[in-house]
Amino acid sequence: MVISMSSEASPAEISQVVEFIRAHHARPHISRGAERTIIGVIGYRHEVQIEQLLTLPGVETVIPISRPYKLVSREFKRENTIIKVDGVQIGGAEPVMIAGPCSVENEEQILQAARMAKKKGAHLFRGGAFKPRTSPYSFQGLGEEGLRLLQLAKQETGLPIVTEILDSKDVPLGQEYADVLQIGARNMQNYSLLKEAGRSGKPVLLKRGMSADFKEFMMSAEYIMSEGNNEVILCERGIRSFVEFTRNTLDLNIIPAVKSASHLPIIVDPSHGTGRRDLIESMSLAALAAGADGLMVEMHPRPESSWSDANQTMNPQEFSDLMEKFNYFIYCKNNFEKYKNSQKIMKKAV
Ligand code: PEP
Ligand code: MN
Repeated sequence: MVISMSSEASPAEISQVVEFIRAHHARPHISRGAERTIIGVIGYRHEVQIEQLLTLPGVETVIPISRPYKLVSREFKRENTIIKVDGVQIGGAEPVMIAGPCSVENEEQILQAARMAKKKGAHLFRGGAFKPRTSPYSFQGLGEEGLRLLQLAKQETGLPIVTEILDSKDVPLGQEYADVLQIGARNMQNYSLLKEAGRSGKPVLLKRGMSADFKEFMMSAEYIMSEGNNEVILCERGIRSFVEFTRNTLDLNIIPAVKSASHLPIIVDPSHGTGRRDLIESMSLAALAAGADGLMVEMHPRPESSWSDANQTMNPQEFSDLMEKFNYFIYCKNNFEKYKNSQKIMKKAV
């Protein structure tokens, strides 16, 4: 259930509600908004009664949430969650671009890619130092050395770093070197990793598992949030289907579905979603049109020599073309807002 405190509730009244929840074997999850504090009650066998809560001073409303995911749901929080990473807003008015190579390979490659991302206007830089590969004989990533190279790229370009953490034991490394921890599709239901990321104090980019349904995806985000981390960015990266002409099937239906059921931002990865660089631009634009809060794409100074995912990695020209369309989309979106506002003013004037 969700407790909405009155806008005048004092800190002492909020503490009293928190203590009450704990005394009834449940966990309080506090979300302080600009106007009021919202407290989620979580736990699997709690005995908190709505009637009792309503008698506590400062409590305005108590709403039971029937969905299995609570903290993730729009019932818990009506306004969109905006996640700020070094001044970049994810989930705000404009979509963001996260770009970079599939894997960190060496200093020259990562710096060239980061310069390219920065020059064309990307907001965050990605690169894998720990790589989840189908074969144990494929390149597994440079590990901590890769994270160090990502830091060099950040020092030079100022772009915040998004990088995948494969194992809960590596979360401290992510805390040290990354700005956003990525949890990959194969780990979407690695519950110990989700919990550790929930305690990391870093925003988490959670990719949808390749055969995860909507509820499973939301429940994985709930794991992270239930550890006290409100900063979860969902990412659609394609699911397994019967089609064979693409690596995965990009499920863009999920964007409006997430927007209606959850307050969390959702971005789209058309690189893994298609596995084909010739389809990335079209699917990026489709994702933006469907309301995605951003894109994550793989690019490389020389994709033909990329150590992983070469077929879905854009070259500098392709990335530059994509950025042009991406920026044009934002320009159109902003103009549409202006047009809507001018219509409102005209209506008022008539
Ligand atoms: C990646 O982003 O590099 C990656 C491995 O993606 P996914 O987990 O979606 O396969
Ligand atoms: Mn990849």
